Amino acid sequence: MHAGADDDRSHSRKPISSDLLEEVRSGALESKDSIEILTWAIEKFHPRLALSCSFGDPEGMALLDMMHGIESSSRVFVLDTGRMHQETYDLIDRVRDRYGKQMEVVLPDGDAVQSMVREHGMNLFYGSLEKRKLCCHLRKVEPSARFLADLDAYVTGLRRGQGPTRSDIGKVEIDRGNGGIVKVNPLVDWSYDDVWQYVRRHDVPVNRLHKAGYPSVGCAPCTRAIQAGEDPRAGRWWWENPETKECGLHADEETGGSGI
Ligand code: SF4
Repeated sequence: MHAGADDDRSHSRKPISSDLLEEVRSGALESKDSIEILTWAIEKFHPRLALSCSFGDPEGMALLDMMHGIESSSRVFVLDTGRMHQETYDLIDRVRDRYGKQMEVVLPDGDAVQSMVREHGMNLFYGSLEKRKLCCHLRKVEPSARFLADLDAYVTGLRRGQGPTRSDIGKVEIDRGNGGIVKVNPLVDWSYDDVWQYVRRHDVPVNRLHKAGYPSVGCAPCTRAIQAGEDPRAGRWWWENPETKECGLHADEETGGSGI
């Protein structure tokens, strides 16, 4: 553990240095593998760095395992939307037991959620794309932004193969939508099979719903199991067009490798 790590957590975000910006823009980080990227990020930003983990995807669990191996006090946060499966809460506790880690649980603003359900109902997300996005905004985007405001960098399990909205993400990006925080995506060039191979090889705990046909587990009312041969993201917001299938957490990045 880094000396004084806890004391270093709370201060306002430092502006990104021109050297770091140049390093990101040059695309040089694109040649690093996932462990090298995580080691780079931990050395540069810990403890002002945290993994954003849904506890519903094998990607997040693989990253949690890798980061813990590099730095046992590496930080993990989870957005508890209030609509998650019991299996997801179980996994958070299983990880806590296995790694001796305290997860940082981030909750939505209670007043905002109360107003939303009073006006639009408990299951508003099925009513329209706008209402689904409102729910995602209040239960995910706003809490995430609030938590990220106290960090210099965060890690995600995004992969380019996850769909049309993710095909050009870089390994390190500047997330302008969250105030210019550094966003680290070590698994962008991994396949879904690569992730599962890592998880099995290292006996990493995963969400029990994967065995019931859920390739990724989001909120209970917005996730379903898929049939053999279906796209892995077909189980998320299955009533929507594939082009709209984002919760709003990942937008407005300046990429280091592709797509500047
Ligand atoms: Fe709401 Fe569904 Fe988005 Fe969860 S995934 S925040 S329940 S709309």
